[in-house]
Amino acid sequence: GQRLDQDDLEEMLGIDWARHLWQLSIDANDLVRARVNEFSIDCDLKDGELTVAHKARHERSLWDYAEHLQRVYNYGDIEVVQRDDVHEQLGSTSYFGGTLDHRAGHLHPLNLARGLARAAESLGVHIFEHSEVSAIEKVASEHIVRTALGEVRCGDVVVACNGYLNGLLPSADRFQMPINNFMVATAPLDAAVAKRINRDDVAVVDTRFVVNYFHLSRDHRLIFGGGENYTPFFPQSIERVVRPRLEAVYPELKGVGIEYEWGGTLSVTMNRMPKFGRADDGIYYAEGYSGHGVAMANLGGALIAEAILGKPERFDQIAQLKQRAFPGGRWLRWPGLIAGMLFYSMLDRI
Ligand SMILES: Cc1cc2nc3c(=O)[nH]c(=O)nc-3n(C[C@H](O)[C@H](O)[C@H](O)COP(=O)(O)OP(=O)(O)OC[C@H]3O[C@@H](n4cnc5c(N)ncnc54)[C@H](O)[C@@H]3O)c2cc1C
Repeated sequence: GQRLDQDDLEEMLGIDWARHLWQLSIDANDLVRARVNEFSIDCDLKDGELTVAHKARHERSLWDYAEHLQRVYNYGDIEVVQRDDVHEQLGSTSYFGGTLDHRAGHLHPLNLARGLARAAESLGVHIFEHSEVSAIEKVASEHIVRTALGEVRCGDVVVACNGYLNGLLPSADRFQMPINNFMVATAPLDAAVAKRINRDDVAVVDTRFVVNYFHLSRDHRLIFGGGENYTPFFPQSIERVVRPRLEAVYPELKGVGIEYEWGGTLSVTMNRMPKFGRADDGIYYAEGYSGHGVAMANLGGALIAEAILGKPERFDQIAQLKQRAFPGGRWLRWPGLIAGMLFYSMLDRI
């Protein structure tokens, strides 16, 4: 599925467009799996995502939504999970009931990115690291892409900077807002503990506005994500932000060793659907995956390639979504965003 639920998309766009967007989400999932298989990318891809209610009243809406997907989209890969089963699967009573999507899953995203880079190079793509683009200019019929030490002249430019865009393409930047999100990895857990806290080795995500999401690594670490901030700065200690969330879900892991902590910048749009567009004749961009981009950004690249090759139909199914720009320009966006985000994250605690 997309970052927005299908019933919301149906209300916003009508059933036909919503069906196209559903199909794109399936295509995105299939594309990642096909690339992992074709290029033998070693990224620990595993099936299964358990979505769990952190409030009793969310349980019914998760179950109703699963039934909606089964009935309207003929989706047979999702099942309802009762409260007791959630407790059994996670070895924790922190959550209520949920749903299990067998087609969704988890993987090691850095190893996926490295595998994709190797695959692209094997097909003749040149990748230049440490070459920050400082400007894109149009001169006659071509574009000049400038970096500190050199420039590239080309016909088409694809801008895929997501939350790191930082003003490079102002007409795209107005539609996205960077947000920092945080993760930790525990020390390897005993195999028995790992089995007890995630019996079926699935990805888990909860229904909070600022979600908790977690899974096990190949070597039985708990990889736990949760907490975010809305400033250009990262906290000095990410562990201090994430550990309380982890321990609230798994009291038995109180005091567990945390060996790694990291954060990254993602990009959200006003309505949480991605923003695809053309900034100029020959500049394409895709951004604003709103925390849902591992599969969709793979598809975003494929759709831009299709558009460049003269088949823009699937690209336009997303490019034509109405998106509102964030008010307040590049700098004045922050106060409004922070107030809104803090309000919704406060609701998580009520
Ligand atoms: C902590 C965290 C957890 C997440 N968890 C999930 C998850 O569970 N599931 C999910 O689907 N998504 C998740 N996301 C979101 C997901 O990572 C993004 O949606 C996805 O990476 C978007 O891919 P992208 O290629 O568009 O952008 P990115 O992966 O952000 O890549 C952008 C690239 O552009 C480069 N760049 C930026 N500016 C310039 C410039 N001026 N010149 C040259 N290069 C530039 C950057 O160096 C970077 O390599 C998470 C994000 C974070 C930060």
